[in-house]
Amino acid sequence: MRGTLSVIGFGPGSFEHMTQAARDAIQDSEVIIGYNTYVDLIAGLLSGQQIVRTGMTEEVSRAQEAVRQAEAGRKVAVISSGDAGVYGMAGLIYEVLMEKGWRREDGVAVEIIPGISAINSTGSLLGAPIMHDACTISLSDHLTPWDLIIKRVEAAAAADFVVALYNPRSGRRTRQIVETQRVLLRYRSADTPVGIVKSAYRDRQDVVVTTLGRMLDHDIGMLTTVIIGNSATVVYDGLMITPRGYQRKYTLGDDIQPLKPHERLRPEAEPWSLEARLGGSPAQSLTEDGAELLSAGGSVPVAERESAASGLASAATQAVASSAVAESVSPLELALEALWLVDARRGTAAEPARLEGTGTTEAPWLLQNAFRRQEILEFAVSPGLAEKKLTSAQLTLLADVVGEDGSIEYTPHHQWLVRIVTGDPGEAVSRLKEAGLMLAPVGDVAQIKACDFCDMEKVDSVPYLEELHNRIGGMKVSKELRIGFNGCGMACYGAVKDDIGIVYRRQRFDLFLGGKTVGRNAHAGIPVAEGIDPEKLVETVEKIVRRYADEAHPNERFHKFFNRVKELEGYRYRELPVFQIENALCGD
Ligand code: SAH
Repeated sequence: MRGTLSVIGFGPGSFEHMTQAARDAIQDSEVIIGYNTYVDLIAGLLSGQQIVRTGMTEEVSRAQEAVRQAEAGRKVAVISSGDAGVYGMAGLIYEVLMEKGWRREDGVAVEIIPGISAINSTGSLLGAPIMHDACTISLSDHLTPWDLIIKRVEAAAAADFVVALYNPRSGRRTRQIVETQRVLLRYRSADTPVGIVKSAYRDRQDVVVTTLGRMLDHDIGMLTTVIIGNSATVVYDGLMITPRGYQRKYTLGDDIQPLKPHERLRPEAEPWSLEARLGGSPAQSLTEDGAELLSAGGSVPVAERESAASGLASAATQAVASSAVAESVSPLELALEALWLVDARRGTAAEPARLEGTGTTEAPWLLQNAFRRQEILEFAVSPGLAEKKLTSAQLTLLADVVGEDGSIEYTPHHQWLVRIVTGDPGEAVSRLKEAGLMLAPVGDVAQIKACDFCDMEKVDSVPYLEELHNRIGGMKVSKELRIGFNGCGMACYGAVKDDIGIVYRRQRFDLFLGGKTVGRNAHAGIPVAEGIDPEKLVETVEKIVRRYADEAHPNERFHKFFNRVKELEGYRYRELPVFQIENALCGD
């Protein structure tokens, strides 16, 4: 009978984190071969198997013994911690077999059973530090020349890999980790988050989140894995989290703007992609020398790498998404919705959950690295609530503030969408405000759009407009909310087509709710009231908007919300005549 050799990774060391296949193979075996500590860890699974225990340094003899027993026709299990194929027994077993001229068709049957490696088990205890491109580097120089190991550390550092250091330190090998930290610090900020996990999922488990600068102040030993974050990794509430991507948009008030579904996966939104680099997109202007500098890695002085990074950043700002309306949902949106539902069940959902804790104040190191995340400040600019004219001085200033790297996009909403590459909004914002320009956050907020009141001749209703703006302008809501405010019955700025339409007529107000502002089946709002007393107007609209802010589902547009709740401030939803018309995505 042919013998069998199962090379089993049993995971970090707890029973629950061992796969069923690993348990079965251990129970089915006749002989178990492994390092003493590992045999103890699986003691609960044993039922009279012969145990061959060996000490740490006898790996080769263990492999040879395993092959010998299997060749004698026995069922042999070789156990290895984590995954047997990661600095484990799997390769060694094959080396011994190859030396003996083993063949798959007639030699002993070999099966490698995968397990959870330390990079995964320790990562899970730290939060989500891996997430992006990562590598493992063993600092053990028993079998690998130190010169090669440190070269790999340097290459990983230069390429902004998340790095999991295995075998970081032992009683005798104490200088390797010191040297490794020194090289990493040449490429990454001392504030880079670092996780140190000892004995993951074992009795003496210990989890520490620290920084690259301070990592050596902590206990690091044989049973420790050290995870070094990349330049975008942040710490949030004691957890180490590496974001999925490198771009971050935010608006006034530091509200993070996740890329919309249609903004993702497009070459314009990914100026760093190979496709964008080769194609004729604006991203091609990505400085050729910048790209070379980045790939040259280690030999490039920090200042040059900084400038290369800003080349990347400038290309990113041109990656401006259009106003397409896509119904598809991104993984990020799904995650946000799931969080919101969990909070709602707990009764703690004040508003849909946002990715918090990635603000620049908590993560100053984001700005310090060659591969820093791109900080793009995005906001809307207009000459004023009712004012529609710009002076040439304002235009000149705007051009100056936006500079070469930023962009200005003219939108359908009487405003410019301005994007500036900066992590510090302060100066740009105050200069624009001083020049009399009005700045507003963008995204899922309430925005008031007024007409020009016939060149400011019909100004009677303007105080109500200003009061309304003071109370609800910029308020966070589930989905962008446009409130149109027109100063006469002509309503020539189209208030009745907005989510909420307000029209001043004969010293009183008409109110329209639930316009569908885009799409081929766009329609005006439902006229719910005529002749509202001016003293009641602001309060009524504020209550409606607050209810929408409090009760709408994530991403629920105002017209859908009105249709669902059926009643707002006593105004009832009414069905409009329906035209059957196929909804079309932008660009179709
Ligand atoms: N095959 C194993 C790695 C063996 S090398 C695996 O895939 O995980 C030994 C190194 O692995 C240790 O020095 C430590 O860096 C890491 N390691 C293994 N198990 C660990 C655990 N439970 N907690 C933390 N680190 C661990």
